[in-house]
Amino acid sequence: MTVTSKANQIEKEQQEESLNLFLSTQSIIKEAVERLGYPEEMYELLKEPLRLLQVRIPVRMDDGSTKIFTGYRAQHNDAVGPTKGGIRFHPEVDEEEVKALSMWMSLKCGIVDLPYGGGKGGIICDPRKMSFYELERLSRGYVRAISQIVGPTKDIPAPDVYTNPQIMAWMMDEYSRIQEFDSPGFITGKPLVLGGSQGRETATAKGVTICIEEAAKAKGIAIKGARVIVQGFGNAGSYLAKFMKEAGANVIGISDANGALYNPDGLDIDYLLERRDSFGTVTNLFKDVLTNKEILEKECDILVPAAISNQITAQNAHRIQAKIVVEAANGPTTLEATKILTERGVLLVPDVLASAGGVTVSYFEWVQNNQGYYWTEEEVEDKLRLKIVDSFQKVLETAIQRKVDMRLAAYMVGMRKMAEASRFRGWV
Ligand code: NAD
Repeated sequence: MTVTSKANQIEKEQQEESLNLFLSTQSIIKEAVERLGYPEEMYELLKEPLRLLQVRIPVRMDDGSTKIFTGYRAQHNDAVGPTKGGIRFHPEVDEEEVKALSMWMSLKCGIVDLPYGGGKGGIICDPRKMSFYELERLSRGYVRAISQIVGPTKDIPAPDVYTNPQIMAWMMDEYSRIQEFDSPGFITGKPLVLGGSQGRETATAKGVTICIEEAAKAKGIAIKGARVIVQGFGNAGSYLAKFMKEAGANVIGISDANGALYNPDGLDIDYLLERRDSFGTVTNLFKDVLTNKEILEKECDILVPAAISNQITAQNAHRIQAKIVVEAANGPTTLEATKILTERGVLLVPDVLASAGGVTVSYFEWVQNNQGYYWTEEEVEDKLRLKIVDSFQKVLETAIQRKVDMRLAAYMVGMRKMAEASRFRGWV
């Protein structure tokens, strides 16, 4: 196979994967709509984003050439309020993935009861191969391209895979220039000096940690001494490993895009945190490395996929030995695998609940920007804990009362406010 045909094959597989994610999201939304007793029109409304913008962004590269990048912004449903969701910079971004991610954002906002609908953006690029200034020009170009449909009361972006506070700062600056007024509430995940919130950087991992604590209580497992494996060592995974270690758990496995580290006696997380690079890579420094597939199947109490989608599938779900699986990543477990794990008695905390800490603190950041008054880290953390504990209990109760798995329960909880708001507005 030539290099080009191999690349085409990978691209095709990626597109199929995104389409499957999108279709499976639709199928759970359909089931949730039916179980909640809404009419077919409600499903018709919620099965696709209300808006999807595709843009082409010309960027002057450092060598003087111009490269044209493709970007997207999807806005799923704005019945409750402005849409909200991150921007992903990744070579495998595509339309279906951005659409599915915007739908999950609507559900997350519904689950933690925020006054938002879901949005998501992405640019097809590889930031690992771009310079600092090329990234700045790309970030600013994207904001110019989507500026008409975003804004502090329309659609509020945030960081996602391979985007960070610096990128948010450039985007905020570009938007403020276009509008000719300072506009910190346009985007969240900003550096603290530009109106970022205390606790935003660690918010997703904090939310996952709170979910793990609640799930462990429900399963009668003590966090102290529990064996934890985390797939992915980026923003979500690395902080989570740190918080688990601080809570007395034994983190026995971590991984990144290149492989996995495993030690049944526990890994030195502080050392790994010190050595990881800004893209969450650390395993390349070690010789004795397992594959990502192998690490998922090792015996542990708590498994946290915190990297990419489609990691636990019908192929490996039978071999997962964890008692609790908490999805920090978006879409790491397929629907078939969810069924298999649930039947095997594994408590699965779905992505739309487990990773809602990020958007919750993003909301706190936006509230602080709007009121011009800033909270301490403790205040942010207390407010986050209240939201996540309450949401976890609502989802667990729904799962028990309605006799459905945790994913369907989370969709039912997440959808209700959006559906009611759409009804009151007379849309359905
Ligand atoms: P990140 O870019 O900071 O880190 C990603 C990590 O995944 C890196 O360690 C990378 O090496 C690893 N990785 C990449 N490809 C991999 C592969 N094929 N196999 C195993 N590991 C691989 O990203 P992040 O912000 O930590 O996000 C991770 C996941 O969590 C994503 O699914 C993201 O959508 C989700 N999430 C993140 C946030 C947030 O606030 N950071 C919020 C909600 C959901």
